[in-house]
Amino acid sequence: MKKPTVVIIGGGPAGLGAAWQLCLQDKANVVVLEKLGQVGGNTGSFELAGIPVDFGSHRLHPACDAHILDDLRKLLGDDLLDRPRHGRIRLRGRWIHFPLKPVDLVLRLPWSFGFGVACDSVKKIFSGSQKTQEETFATVLRAGLGRTICEDFYFPYARKIWGLEPEVLSAIQARRRVSAGSLGKMVKKVLSAVPGLKPPGSGRFYYLRKGFGQICDTIAQAAKDEGAALRLGASVTKIEMGSPHQVHVRVDEKDEIIEADYVWSTIPLAVLSKVISPTPDQSVLQAADGLSSRAMVLAYLVLEQSQFTPFDAHYFPEAHIKLTRLSEPKNYSVRKEPADCTVLCGEIPCQVGDEVWNSTDEQLGEMMCDALSQSGLPVKSRVREVVTRRLPHAYPVYLTGYEKHFQALDDWSSTLDHVLTFGRQGLFAHDNTHHALAMAYAAVECLSADGTFDLSSWASYREAFKSHVVED
Ligand SMILES: Cc1cc2nc3c(=O)[nH]c(=O)nc-3n(C[C@H](O)[C@H](O)[C@H](O)COP(=O)(O)OP(=O)(O)OC[C@H]3O[C@@H](n4cnc5c(N)ncnc54)[C@H](O)[C@@H]3O)c2cc1C
Repeated sequence: MKKPTVVIIGGGPAGLGAAWQLCLQDKANVVVLEKLGQVGGNTGSFELAGIPVDFGSHRLHPACDAHILDDLRKLLGDDLLDRPRHGRIRLRGRWIHFPLKPVDLVLRLPWSFGFGVACDSVKKIFSGSQKTQEETFATVLRAGLGRTICEDFYFPYARKIWGLEPEVLSAIQARRRVSAGSLGKMVKKVLSAVPGLKPPGSGRFYYLRKGFGQICDTIAQAAKDEGAALRLGASVTKIEMGSPHQVHVRVDEKDEIIEADYVWSTIPLAVLSKVISPTPDQSVLQAADGLSSRAMVLAYLVLEQSQFTPFDAHYFPEAHIKLTRLSEPKNYSVRKEPADCTVLCGEIPCQVGDEVWNSTDEQLGEMMCDALSQSGLPVKSRVREVVTRRLPHAYPVYLTGYEKHFQALDDWSSTLDHVLTFGRQGLFAHDNTHHALAMAYAAVECLSADGTFDLSSWASYREAFKSHVVED
């Protein structure tokens, strides 16, 4: 029987994971089209001053499905490092270990913060559960965690990450984004740091010797070894529906058409609606305009010192500090070389085209140094170089009411014969890498050896994806 040709759009973990498994299981001829010059999407890495650096702090979470983790172990061998988490968060001017640890909370938590949390817990016990207003990110977290944790941590952090007030963000954002969404869950998380009570994997993460991007680089190579065609610098501009579909792609300033029995898209769902021909109804295009993504500028400082701090990441909830997170890539893989320098990566959420997005490297370098000084971490060594990268689709924004726009687009995409959309951008899901890989594996499982796609099995998987909660 002739194998179907599956054209996969997007070379991030979702697209590459699917390409690899499709070829490995000999289910399809596969072509991957990736618009950038490298694979990995938001999980990619690049080298700076001899150090592999990521697009912001990336860790592989131990919550990854066991069979996927096993496959990754076999593929990555000793390069998959099992590392303890060693971060810090700034609360009322003090540094607390992150993820939270009981000893650290007792010794370092500002007393006013602890007192506030204790009062909130008592209030919660006596007030019971009241649902009088429409649920939002703010109401869900205030009810679950109390005022103090919300006002000191989650709300200012949310304003920086999504650029919006917590009151206009959907309740779903709280449920999907905040894994410790109630005091009970938070206490459980804190206690899980106690030896003896620790569940396996707690307080640890997986990382790669050559940077997080090594996951996708290695999967891409494995997919190629199994016969997949990988086209870089190949931007899909149009998908003409038919049998087969005609996928229009721009490579090296030339247009090409590739025929596909199936199109598997991992690009933003809203973008998919704009490249499909025939053009969808106006209502679908309007729904697409109702979904927005938050962008991010990443500023990298190359410093002439071997290590800035021993911590992997610093988290900054405070409103006046422009960064949300700082990471030191060398510390993720315990890299000692090069001995004469280190790199810091600052994450600055923004909108495409706003002042931050349009800032020069020099301005972003200064912004980062100012933020670090204000946090009590002044840069004292010479800054050898400032390099920046920009992610147009860093975080999906769940504005209240976004569900109806997503539903309209989702309903429309499910009418497209032999077209599947998945991945973080494809399902507008605030997901981790292991979730994107789980979606890829599920899609491949739904394609049977005779080339038919089991839509009812996919519908069950889609229900299961709703339980995905982002791990920090
Ligand atoms: C700052 C930050 C930190 C994160 N930290 C973590 C973490 O610690 N752990 C974790 O597990 N996850 C983390 N994530 C999430 C992780 O990056 C995503 O889950 C993952 O990238 C999703 O993979 P994907 O393949 O679905 O999408 P993407 O990685 O977004 O890949 C989509 C691909 O499609 C390509 N594309 C778009 N349009 C076209 C087109 N027209 N033609 C061809 N190709 C196109 C893009 O270039 C991209 O390569 C983080 C994300 C961010 C932004």
